[in-house]
Amino acid sequence: LTFLLQFFVGGNWKCNGTKDSISKLVTDLNSSTLEADVDVVVSPPFVYIDQVKNSLTDKIDIAAQNSWIGKGGAFTGEISIEQLKDIGCKWVILGHSERRHVIGEDDQFIGKKAAYALSQDVGVIACIGELLEEREGGKTFDVCFRQLKAYADVVPSWDKIVIAYEPVWAIGTGKVASPQQAQEVHQAVRDWLKTNVSADVASKTRIIYGGSVNGGNCAELAKEEDIDGFLVGGASLKGPEFATIINSVT
Ligand code: PGA
Repeated sequence: LTFLLQFFVGGNWKCNGTKDSISKLVTDLNSSTLEADVDVVVSPPFVYIDQVKNSLTDKIDIAAQNSWIGKGGAFTGEISIEQLKDIGCKWVILGHSERRHVIGEDDQFIGKKAAYALSQDVGVIACIGELLEEREGGKTFDVCFRQLKAYADVVPSWDKIVIAYEPVWAIGTGKVASPQQAQEVHQAVRDWLKTNVSADVASKTRIIYGGSVNGGNCAELAKEEDIDGFLVGGASLKGPEFATIINSVT
């Protein structure tokens, strides 16, 4: 399978930052030279989205880090897709391993959120990925395919989905997957889409890698045929390094 898909790089700021540190990060991003043919999104904590939206170059879109499963209303502490759209979010990250394994969200709950976001025309960065013990137990593909199926069972279309493969053992650990390890799963994900969704969706869906991506390892990963971009945590908090990752497209 050889396709050239537009590279996609997301910066997941997680629960980090202050008004001041985010203002500096935005200034750094605004003054960076970014490869034009890359789709770039950043994902600030909810409370800073408005600040970022109002100060960041419009070459970079905003992704929320989570959303509610449906319309807003009496859901204390939740934030609806309609509200996210209202403040200018075009994307939402769903199924992140921290929400699965720290907060306890399951495949079906995540699927509902994805289906609702897409129904409202908000793009979904749909995360999947295995735990270390699952990899060591030879279950990597089983886990990733199960998580993928939970999205595939409910989403109305694949036009606005980017799949993020993020092995949990690589997230925030400094233990990046090797290009070969990542490529093996990305290719399997693409084959799964071909068999279970359609050849068209398999050929058009970006599959991005996340887990300890940094300015030093991004270029090697980006060379792999089925790695169509990155989802970056820690290194996205440093403007110049994040720019290096965006510009690693080959
Ligand atoms: P990391 O996080 O780059 O800090 O490993 C990646 C992610 O959680 O998306």
